[in-house]
Amino acid sequence: MSFESLGLSHNIIRSVNKLGYLKPFPIQEQAVPVILEGKDLMGIAKTGSGKTACFVMPVLEKLQNADVKKDRNVQVLILVPTRELAIQIDEVFRAFTDNLKREIRTMAVYGGVSINPQMKGMFGVEVLIATPGRLLDLIEHKAVSISGIRQLIIDEADKMFHLGFEEEMNKLFGLMPVMKQTILFSATLNDKVAEMKERLSINPVMIEI
Ligand code: AMP
Repeated sequence: MSFESLGLSHNIIRSVNKLGYLKPFPIQEQAVPVILEGKDLMGIAKTGSGKTACFVMPVLEKLQNADVKKDRNVQVLILVPTRELAIQIDEVFRAFTDNLKREIRTMAVYGGVSINPQMKGMFGVEVLIATPGRLLDLIEHKAVSISGIRQLIIDEADKMFHLGFEEEMNKLFGLMPVMKQTILFSATLNDKVAEMKERLSINPVMIEI
């Protein structure tokens, strides 16, 4: 199977080639068409499976065709448990944003560093990668709004619970629109992750690698 056959356009494939990816990983073959169709998805996959490109490619594919006003409303929110993962995902987005039809700004925000540069840098960001606590702070400061997101992605959902982010996550869910596409990735499928699925009232396509 090729990247083209997954429904990705030449702008995205150019970046795929530059990164040296020869063909899609199995999880990408399964997940990319589902995400492009706009369906909710739950992927059980570990780091190293290629799960990041699974959502980065279709998110940018859709967003590059969208007409978006530059303001403090993010379009796509990616919630992650750690600063390291936030930075890592932002790097993958940046590897794919070079060749797009229009400029798309992405940003990673996390705690443990000064909030001021993050507040200043937020205008015009369309894809935000965030840890839950810092995102709540930024929303309280009116630096950003998640009330109009089109897509929510939660990466390493099981780790969110291990690190005690349940309360923050529930607060954030209350600030999001009901109508959106939701994509969950988790290394394991435990009761807490199943509960999150219920809380988000989704019935996602399940993919396990
Ligand atoms: P991840 O599981 O998202 O952390 O990705 C693991 C590694 O696989 C990263 O270094 C990616 O750059 C790489 N990768 C992702 N998709 C592909 C692919 N289709 N072909 C080759 N390498 C890939």
